[in-house]
Amino acid sequence: MKFTDMGLSPELLDGIARLKFEQPTPVQATVIPAILKDQRDLVALAQTGTGKTAAFGLPILQMLKREIKTPQALILCPTRELCMQIARDLEHFSASMHGVQILAVYGGADIRPQLTAMSRGVDVVVATPGRMHDMLRRRRANFARIQHVVLDEADEMLNMGFEEDLQAILSDVPDTAQKLLFSATMPKQVAAITRKYMKNPEEITVGTRNAGADNVRHEYAVVHARDRYPALKRLVDFYPEMYGIVFCRTRQETQDIADRLGRDGYKAESLHGDLTQAQRDRVMKKFRAREITMLVATDVAARGLDVDNLTHIINYSLPDELGSYTHRSGRTGRAGKNGVSIALINMREHYKVKHIEKTLGRPFIQRSVPSGIEICEAQLLALMKRLSEVSPEPGLIDDILPLLCKNLEGVSREDLLRRFASLELHRMLDYYGKEPDLNAEPLSPPGKRAGRGQRASDSDMAELVINLGKRNGLSPKKLMGLVNAVDRSSNIAVGRINITQMQTYFNVPSAAAQGLIDGFAQKPTEFDGRDVRVARAGQGDPAKRDQKRAARRKGGAQRRSPERSKQRRRT
Ligand code: ADP
Ligand code: MG
Repeated sequence: MKFTDMGLSPELLDGIARLKFEQPTPVQATVIPAILKDQRDLVALAQTGTGKTAAFGLPILQMLKREIKTPQALILCPTRELCMQIARDLEHFSASMHGVQILAVYGGADIRPQLTAMSRGVDVVVATPGRMHDMLRRRRANFARIQHVVLDEADEMLNMGFEEDLQAILSDVPDTAQKLLFSATMPKQVAAITRKYMKNPEEITVGTRNAGADNVRHEYAVVHARDRYPALKRLVDFYPEMYGIVFCRTRQETQDIADRLGRDGYKAESLHGDLTQAQRDRVMKKFRAREITMLVATDVAARGLDVDNLTHIINYSLPDELGSYTHRSGRTGRAGKNGVSIALINMREHYKVKHIEKTLGRPFIQRSVPSGIEICEAQLLALMKRLSEVSPEPGLIDDILPLLCKNLEGVSREDLLRRFASLELHRMLDYYGKEPDLNAEPLSPPGKRAGRGQRASDSDMAELVINLGKRNGLSPKKLMGLVNAVDRSSNIAVGRINITQMQTYFNVPSAAAQGLIDGFAQKPTEFDGRDVRVARAGQGDPAKRDQKRAARRKGGAQRRSPERSKQRRRT
């Protein structure tokens, strides 16, 4: 199905073309023709990021009758941000149509300009339920000619306690109006609304396998509760190009994390319900302009936000309402782009991941919290990428260049890079050189995740884990080499070996296990530039735990503007 085959007007097709939408999304392909066909009510279950706004927006715009000057369509949605966004989207779709008036009506802002705009004549009203209800009570909106009512993100509107407002508004629109309800989930409350206000609605489900969801990789890392914040920082440091949302459970936590990130020199700000509307607008503007690269938000505040090209969603804590996870992860992987959603969980939260896996119908991959070395490597690569991409402007630099060259005479290319990198990264290197492993448990080898805590090792074998993996170029042969170097005498028979990205599991005879662990502890061994550590799989390494405690006392890494933060602390 193409947009041109749907019976949409040339003006709308023009609007779509300007937005560079090439093909309708699955929701659009089903919903647009259905709405254009007749006035039948419709219930559509679809995840976020599936293109619902155009799915209802295009056909509604198409069916507007120009001679009518009171509202013909009413779109209700849960938040002010979403309200402004939908209104803006509709403006874009209708850019080539003449004289279509779209009005956003939302709370937290002066009602008077909204009332004035309404009285001037409006075709489409996009509103949050509270403010809309208020306007109706003041008898300042004439809904006698409403033909279409959209309930967007219906589940969230009900979650937010808008039920009474919705009921009041719905009873004020003509019975003949077509009702269109969009929701990601179908809790009882939503079903009740459909029964009460909708007539024999057509039901459409766009499965979880929509374009958006398929582009999102779901990952989780297991950390101790107290390591959540350092783990978050590591993830951010590990992905230098991260542009994403960090989700927290409460407003308090949201503000707290944003403040800490800010103090540590990251470009992060919070978005939650305790902020004034002006503050929220300012934050969103900065985020869209990428002046800040991380938004720390509550579920409600970020609901339905449409920001393109987010690379990561971080679930700093999983939502109480696990269904919200879908909305969170749906903020990334949009419009054909790839995205990653990472959850930080503690050891008692595995069941939550399982639960979400089931409802989502998509697997979660356990990942590790990046180590200091991995982070430094990632930062260096990013630095090199920037270096290779920068196009120096001719001019002053050229004049100084001969002098620079003379100064660095005799320094090899490799040495130059080394010096440059250490200059740029010395704080990161200093800091992470001493930082402990934050993983609360070793990564389970694939396929063995089900029986957590009960490893399938042969009875007389013990399973050990070594902090080296594919990333470090470890092979079975090299592992044997390491084992033999530590234990020269007894020629330990290494059993099954499972090499994952970051670490490797291997079986040795139970009798030899402790000796080998002690051997590695006593004889410092290096491999691929890192201190080799070996422990029993499924148990923390005691030496590491001590180290961790010591390091924690020292405090956190500073990034980007460490000088400034230091100053601030002094004053
Ligand atoms: P939803 O309301 O389902 O969460 P949106 O309507 O906000 O989704 O659309 C999500 C994103 O996808 C927006 O950035 C939108 O511009 C884009 N989009 C929508 N439809 C298309 C399409 N047919 N082709 C490309 N991008 C699209
Ligand atoms: Mg939407």
